[in-house]
Amino acid sequence: MFFNGFVLVIIDLRNIAEEPRYFSFTLETDWWQSQGGKDQILGFETPVKADIEIYRVGDKHLLKGAIGGRLRARCDRCIEPFGLDFRSRFETFFASPVNNADRDETELAEEDMEVDFVKGEEIDLGDMLREQIYLSIPVKLICHSDCRGICPKCGVNLNTGQCRCQQELGHPGFAKLKNLKIQGE
Ligand SMILES: [Zn+2]
Ligand SMILES: [Zn+2]
Repeated sequence: MFFNGFVLVIIDLRNIAEEPRYFSFTLETDWWQSQGGKDQILGFETPVKADIEIYRVGDKHLLKGAIGGRLRARCDRCIEPFGLDFRSRFETFFASPVNNADRDETELAEEDMEVDFVKGEEIDLGDMLREQIYLSIPVKLICHSDCRGICPKCGVNLNTGQCRCQQELGHPGFAKLKNLKIQGE
C-alpha cells in the first residue's frame, strides 16, 4: 500500500491474513478531483483523514473504515460553495471473483448487497473512499437552513442581492387594489 499526492491507495489482499492490519492516512486537499457539472462536492477544505482496518474472514476480506474531514460543497439552492463537515464509518466485505467461480448464481445475487468483488488481488481504496464520501453527505446540500436560493427568473443570489422580478410580478391582490385606486381617481 502506498500513498502520495494523487494517491493510488492500493491494498494487496495477498498480504492480508486473519491478523488485522491497520492503515492510517491523509488525503491532501488536492486529492479530490471534482467531476465538474453537477458534482456537489467541489473539493476538500482540509486534509481528510482515513483509518482502515482489514483482515481475512474465511475466503473474504473484511474492511472497516472511518473517514472524516471538511468538504467544500455547493449549495443546491443558491449554488454558492460552503464548508461541510462529514464523518463516516463503513464496513465492506471484499471477495475475489476467483474464489466465487464455483458458486451458483443465486448465492452470488444474495451476497451482492454486502460484498464487493475485486478484480485480481488488489483493492483500490481511492474509489471506495470517494463513494463513501458521497454516501456520507445529505442528498440535498443547503448552505444554511434559511438560504433564500437564487431567483428562478434572473438568477440573482437572493442571500446577497435583490432583484426586481418579484416586485414586477407583484401580488395579484395588490394589483387589483392598484387598479381600483386608479379607477377611483
Ligand atoms: Zn445556499
Ligand atoms: Zn429575479
